[in-house]
Amino acid sequence: MLLNQPESDVRNQSVPFEDIDLLAVDVPLQEALEREGAAWAVDRVRDCGVVAGSAEAQEHGRRAERNEPRLLTHDRYGHRIDQVGLDPSWHWLLRGAVEREIHALPWRDPQPGAHVARAALELLWTQANAGVICPVSMTYSAVPALRVDPALAAEWEPRLTLPDYERGALCGMAMTEKQGGSDVRANVTRAEAAGDGWWELTGHKWFCSYPPCDVFLVLAQAPGGLSCFLLERGPGMEFQRLKDKLGTRSLPSSEVEFRGAAARMLGAEGRGVATIIEMVTHTRLDCVIGSAAGTRRGVAEAVWHARHRSAFGARLYEQPLMRNVLADLALESEAATATALRLARSYDEGDGTFRRFATAVLKYWICKRAAPHAAEALECLGGNGYVEESPMPRLLRDSPLNGIWEGSGNVMSLDVLRAMAREPEGLPAFLAECELARGADARLDAHLDGLPGMLASLGGEDAQWLARRAVEDLALAFQASLLVRTAPPAVADAFCAGRLGDARGRAYGTLPAGIDADAVLARALAL
Ligand SMILES: Cc1cc2nc3c(=O)[nH]c(=O)nc-3n(C[C@H](O)[C@H](O)[C@H](O)COP(=O)(O)OP(=O)(O)OC[C@H]3O[C@@H](n4cnc5c(N)ncnc54)[C@H](O)[C@@H]3O)c2cc1C
Repeated sequence: MLLNQPESDVRNQSVPFEDIDLLAVDVPLQEALEREGAAWAVDRVRDCGVVAGSAEAQEHGRRAERNEPRLLTHDRYGHRIDQVGLDPSWHWLLRGAVEREIHALPWRDPQPGAHVARAALELLWTQANAGVICPVSMTYSAVPALRVDPALAAEWEPRLTLPDYERGALCGMAMTEKQGGSDVRANVTRAEAAGDGWWELTGHKWFCSYPPCDVFLVLAQAPGGLSCFLLERGPGMEFQRLKDKLGTRSLPSSEVEFRGAAARMLGAEGRGVATIIEMVTHTRLDCVIGSAAGTRRGVAEAVWHARHRSAFGARLYEQPLMRNVLADLALESEAATATALRLARSYDEGDGTFRRFATAVLKYWICKRAAPHAAEALECLGGNGYVEESPMPRLLRDSPLNGIWEGSGNVMSLDVLRAMAREPEGLPAFLAECELARGADARLDAHLDGLPGMLASLGGEDAQWLARRAVEDLALAFQASLLVRTAPPAVADAFCAGRLGDARGRAYGTLPAGIDADAVLARALAL
């Protein structure tokens, strides 16, 4: 007799990765938090991980993404209102980030490890929703730029750093124009003096995320050249439409027209890029943290699924080829987490030389790895990973963003070349840290031995042609050195085997034989 399987007979399916303490299951993050100087923050980071991993937060993350923002340009009588309609879940998520001081912790409480603690908080909250991190990151990053002008800082910093969603303020940025985002010197938005220290801005910005921000840093051409301005949202700032984006769909990103909008100059006239670069450097750190968060979420979902699902008579998690894929994904995530928090420590230490160079190299690499990682993690869930009820499509759609925003791959590579030419102490400081692991792993030693020759080739006419390869080699040297010095030997061995030398594979899941996958995977999802 043939029996049809009834629809209600659900077997061999996973369960949602929800109501999980996201810090407790993430051993690399726990260790990095302590190692990089933020052990004091473990309780608040744990609270953040518990809430971000709750079914409630995950549902808010899904809902905010599904119920997309709507631009409300006019009221019913035709007056401009320039507002954005946002789902209550968006507010729940953004409020949660603000109340946890992810936008402000190092400025409110500048104790050693504050940037590291904040990085860990961001890494966890991003796993609830990546979109809300955009205004959080811009607000955090604006503060050091604002401090160039003590009067403007005194006026705005107290509100920008308040952990109060209603009474506090958020800051955005408007640099990108139609004719160029990377090349901001091509900006044509005009600034004309209006007396009493005020300026009027006229022009258009092609990307301006989070229109509800209270204040924006804007680049515009003053008579003395491209300058930075502080602009309060209000009359003369008209939002024209919201971008229909690939990912981070919960986040409104707009096109905006300035019609004589009143602003004040921040920093010296003609020094706009130099002024806003302090903001950009911090948002680049956040791109690293955000991509580390994406890879972390991807590997957690993949391992979780493989532990619950069987095929051909055994759990996926126990099958050697799947273990190779999972271990490879876990290594990438562990290296990204360790890198993000180490980089954050350089912001605590105010180590400008190392920080600037390392941010450029690591922003390129960590962001570049995120999209293929998300695609491979999605594949681990099979068809269930491809449907919209799963978190994986969102993870994949969000994954390229950090690679574009605040300096895309080529721009970061060119930035590394520029730093090598103009700030000659940066590269040696970076290499000195890589060298700290010298002698512990022959593959890393060989990789380090190869760097001087590769860097020398950047001195010739092929410098730009070779730049990506050089930045990749630098980033791998840094990550391998970090893991060799700080991770369990099995993890460091697997990373060096899988990422350095000619034996390295191309796709994920190509680790050579002899890797201790148990040791790698036990840390990736400590459940
Ligand atoms: C979701 C989202 C939100 C954003 N929010 C904001 C915001 O709030 N405020 C804001 O100001 N901007 C924002 N942006 C814009 C973003 O910063 C720009 O898209 C980015 O800087 C790239 O600029 P572009 O789009 O003009 O590309 P282009 O500058 O035209 O670059 C196109 C490609 O050319 C490459 N390239 C550029 N120059 C060179 C070169 N010399 N050699 C080799 N390759 C090169 C780049 O790497 C890139 O791959 C946002 C973008 C996105 C996607």
